[in-house]
Amino acid sequence: MSSSWMMNDHEKKALSLYIHYPFCVRKCRYCDFLSFPADAAARQAYLDRLGAEMAYRSQAFSGYEVTSLFIGGGTPSLMSGDQLLALMDHVRRHFSLREDAELTMECNPGTVDAEKLSAMRKAGINRISFGLQSARDEELRLLGRIHSFSDFLKSYEAAREAGFDNINVDLMSALPGQSLSSCMESLEAVLALAPEHLSVYSLIIEPGTPFWDLYGEDAPGKPAIPLPDEDTEREMYHRICRRLEAAGYDHYEVSNFARPGRACRHNLVYWRRGEYLGLGLGAASLVDERRFSNTRDLPIYMSSFAPAEEERLTEQARMEETMFLGLRCMRGVSEAEFEAAFGKRIGDIYGPVLEKLCAQGLLAREKGRFFLTERGLDVATPVMAAFLL
Ligand code: SF4
Repeated sequence: MSSSWMMNDHEKKALSLYIHYPFCVRKCRYCDFLSFPADAAARQAYLDRLGAEMAYRSQAFSGYEVTSLFIGGGTPSLMSGDQLLALMDHVRRHFSLREDAELTMECNPGTVDAEKLSAMRKAGINRISFGLQSARDEELRLLGRIHSFSDFLKSYEAAREAGFDNINVDLMSALPGQSLSSCMESLEAVLALAPEHLSVYSLIIEPGTPFWDLYGEDAPGKPAIPLPDEDTEREMYHRICRRLEAAGYDHYEVSNFARPGRACRHNLVYWRRGEYLGLGLGAASLVDERRFSNTRDLPIYMSSFAPAEEERLTEQARMEETMFLGLRCMRGVSEAEFEAAFGKRIGDIYGPVLEKLCAQGLLAREKGRFFLTERGLDVATPVMAAFLL
């Protein structure tokens, strides 16, 4: 008998929850995330709908225990303290939360104060991810961010005072007009605060954004403030990696760095292909080797929970994901784990491509694992794409 009522907590399967809160004060100029401004009534209606979605979806998850939760957006810190408490009440009512679950909430600098941070603590949030992007106000203005660096400092200090001891700070490199020294200045300003975790992504110019009109393939003329060239961008990346490693951070994923024991458990689930359920507009899930996602259309979401996309993963798709997600992590892909998952040796499936990439110095093999070398990190995307069968 395998009914879920018979299982004790230790027998439950691990599940990560993602909750999408799509609202922002205004759109940043580079942003292509699913986010937009909305009035207070629309934001409350959305939260009510999220509660209904939890009630609906949780029925299939009684055999699971939530080991991590991530409230992302958008700007989840636009929620009032009461709204967040109500949201987390719904989560606890409908899902079984492991006592030591990692519960992260993304916060925009300038949108939290002592009262909200205390409500976050009360709601059980134990990790904050601050979207800072740069410590220089002129760069923040250029990006269209709603905050200054001093707004960030106030929010960060208030979070520490409220008792948060697990904080991530997001930074971006390769910004328009950014030099190597201004990039490193931002990094130093953040390092001085000793956050437990840093994510540093290169700016990507996405179609459909105001930045695309300025810097995209079809942009008319030369922009007044140019982007750094490719060599400078790579140099920024390598210097950031070296500096953070020297400061005691473990470079555990292409763009992520953590103090020992502080890697983001939630994101590791994505990269290791653990099971996760996405709730809210456009949220994606991987459950039982099925990938599905909610509609990205708000009016449709408000009236139907039918998945907008759904795919049952073939063995080939699972192998491909194992490789390209696994290689994002610096520890790489384990030969033994691959064989345990698929009953086939990694060399039998990927022998020629592994051999070629190792010979080119883009991958290395050590202690039964394949992983990206420093050179491989510079061309990580094409290296990972080489594993699509
Ligand atoms: S705060 Fe984040 S999600 Fe919102 S517009 Fe800016 S980049 Fe996009």
